[in-house]
Amino acid sequence: MKKILLIHTGGTIAMSEDHQTGAVTTTQDHPLLQDQAILNQFAFVEEKVIFHLPSPHITPAHMLDLGKYIQSRMDEFDGFVITHGTDTLEETAYFLDLYVQTKKPVVVTGAMRSSNEIGSDGLYNLICAVRVATTEEASEKGVLVVMNDEIHTATYVTKTAANNVATFQSPQFGPIGMVTKQEVYFYHKWISYEKFQIEKVTKQVPLLKAYAGMDESFLNAILSMDLDGLVIEAFGQGNLPPVLINNINDLINKNIPVVIVSRSFKGVVQPTYGYKGGGKQLHDMGVIFAKRLSGPKARIKLLMILDAINKQNLRNSFEH
Ligand code: ASP
Repeated sequence: MKKILLIHTGGTIAMSEDHQTGAVTTTQDHPLLQDQAILNQFAFVEEKVIFHLPSPHITPAHMLDLGKYIQSRMDEFDGFVITHGTDTLEETAYFLDLYVQTKKPVVVTGAMRSSNEIGSDGLYNLICAVRVATTEEASEKGVLVVMNDEIHTATYVTKTAANNVATFQSPQFGPIGMVTKQEVYFYHKWISYEKFQIEKVTKQVPLLKAYAGMDESFLNAILSMDLDGLVIEAFGQGNLPPVLINNINDLINKNIPVVIVSRSFKGVVQPTYGYKGGGKQLHDMGVIFAKRLSGPKARIKLLMILDAINKQNLRNSFEH
């Protein structure tokens, strides 16, 4: 049997519902630690509670601690499973994808219903994640997210529904595999090739979302902040309201990278439109176009590039 390290970080999967009030919270007894016997049918599972946090409390510094911990135990295990709250799961999974240096399976999972709710998906998702982590095919695929019988890449997966167990989707390309009662199937190949070596997360990178009629007030406030980079979810192929242009120019002149993604969840940004605020004009000014990534993931990547010991060309890294 394979040896799997199961690392718990918190989230609904590690919470219980108070049946009196309906409030879902972390409890003193970690509910997942009672499932060892079930999990050991699939692998030799060692468990570690690294955090016990709702995922809105998770920061990039926690992600880095988690990545370092996985790296430090790398030689002892055949694969790794991480349980995490679903709200920021995709950011942690993507951070780990860019950080952890391994060909071994690394799988992140969570739950939409807490441990004592009817129809809880926690233990089921956890079993599926452990099963995926024990398969040879899960190697060399970067960090995977396993939820609701589907296997997704950390790069493309996102939480699409606030309440539904079928929440994790990869809108652009779909899942790369699935879990059935008898087998784990992969039907796409995934090559995860970028890695950043970082020691600390030190940078300030806010994320803004464009909206019709947006004025300069947010960017004015941001210009007075001590920031190291900015990510903007722009319209469509990468266009912004024209009133933002001067402030963006000021940021670029101060050597503060401005990265554009699309607020549409499919397609890529590209420098198409030449009108004021259009993507062509922004790109010519020096704005970086993050192909394929969502706003939160572009932000994680920019944070990591800015602190990377193995310096990379920022534009190439986002625009390849
Ligand atoms: N709010 C919870 C969290 O992210 C949601 C979940 O885990 O599903 O911690």
